Amino acid sequence: MQAAARVLGFDEALAKVLAHAAALPRPQSETLALMACADRVLAETILADRDQPPFDRSTRDGFALRAADTAAPLKVVGQIRAGEQWQGGALEHGTTVEIMTGAPIPLAYDAVVMIEHIERDQDSIRLTAGRTIRSGENIVPQGSEARAGQSVLLPGTVIEGAEIALAAACGRSDLQVFRRPRVAIVATGDELVTLNATPGPQQIRNSNSYGLAALVARTGGVPVQMPIAPDRRAELERTIRAARDSDLILLSGGVSMGKYDLVEEVLEGLGAEFFFTGVKMQPGKPLVFGRLPATDEFPSQFFFGLPGNPVSTQVTFHCFVEPLLRAMGGATAQGPRFVQATLAEDVAGKPGLMRVLPARWTADRVRPEVRLVGWQGSGDLAANARANCYAVLPPERERFAAGDVITVLLR
Ligand code: AMP
Ligand code: MG
Repeated sequence: MQAAARVLGFDEALAKVLAHAAALPRPQSETLALMACADRVLAETILADRDQPPFDRSTRDGFALRAADTAAPLKVVGQIRAGEQWQGGALEHGTTVEIMTGAPIPLAYDAVVMIEHIERDQDSIRLTAGRTIRSGENIVPQGSEARAGQSVLLPGTVIEGAEIALAAACGRSDLQVFRRPRVAIVATGDELVTLNATPGPQQIRNSNSYGLAALVARTGGVPVQMPIAPDRRAELERTIRAARDSDLILLSGGVSMGKYDLVEEVLEGLGAEFFFTGVKMQPGKPLVFGRLPATDEFPSQFFFGLPGNPVSTQVTFHCFVEPLLRAMGGATAQGPRFVQATLAEDVAGKPGLMRVLPARWTADRVRPEVRLVGWQGSGDLAANARANCYAVLPPERERFAAGDVITVLLR
């Protein structure tokens, strides 16, 4: 018995995944040393521990002064280096102090003139002819970046270099991050052999499990590679049951219409609810998304039945698994990483199907271009590796012309 078919359009299928992603409970968290937090998801709010900047800060090497004083030459009465504070007493009208980038401005002054914009004559300076200076120029006021106690990073933020630097600036040497979801990976297929076996002439290496494991790890999950499941109900069921202690199951293969495509049937036998059993896209049409019910032992569990063809497996991972998995790891829910680029050549569309084709994107600042990679279809892993993105060609059009701006899925 086959699960009742529910084939959705690409956007409709993605909307389903994103709706489930947005409704996920908050994962558990753990505390890690700051440098172990890169690529993890923040589970707490980070507060500024003091005003940032902590004092009115000079953004230039130059001279601190009163902007209103600059009609006449100013007497240089000292200097302030970064890390120092003015200790030289009252600063009368008609004075100036040499100052370095990052040093605190003396209270009496309200501007810094850049060293390039003055003329110096022994112990006095004047603005270069034609230069003017406003009050506040070249000063970042105390607390203008963040006030003490203000939140600067929110839970759900993916921690990268920018966030590590900010947390360090706030004095944080460890952070609370979300636990990573465990993702069971089940490759199905009688033809598959593991990497350490020598394949017979009619056998295929199980490449999907390795590719998926790498993608899972990169998306913030912990991959758990299960043994290959042959195309037999009992063994498939046993492997799925053994994967119940993970947070998500990714199956590959066995979701097409063939006589030995048993994945849906076995999942249905386990009481699965199916959100969709196909997506109008190419490659990737047989994609299945659903949830196994809670049992006495385990909570309910999302699964994806990914198509077995290796390029389809990876394309559907990027489009549908990535957004759910990121959200399972506590990251603020968001869709796949779509950007726009100019098509470099004419391409045929497929009416009725969203095409997501291996392509190369040139990172040109002014006019990024995208060009399809020649391929032999959805089994062509070599073409997939020559690509660095996927060109997304919506189902409404038969032709896309060189010069058209199209959507690109980054990976
Ligand atoms: P299926 O979806 O099971 O009909 O498989 C479609 C195609 O993908 C077949 O040519 C399979 O041999 C291939 N395939 C399925 N699973 C894997 C896998 N784990 N690694 C590499 N190729 C696979
Ligand atoms: Mg198969």
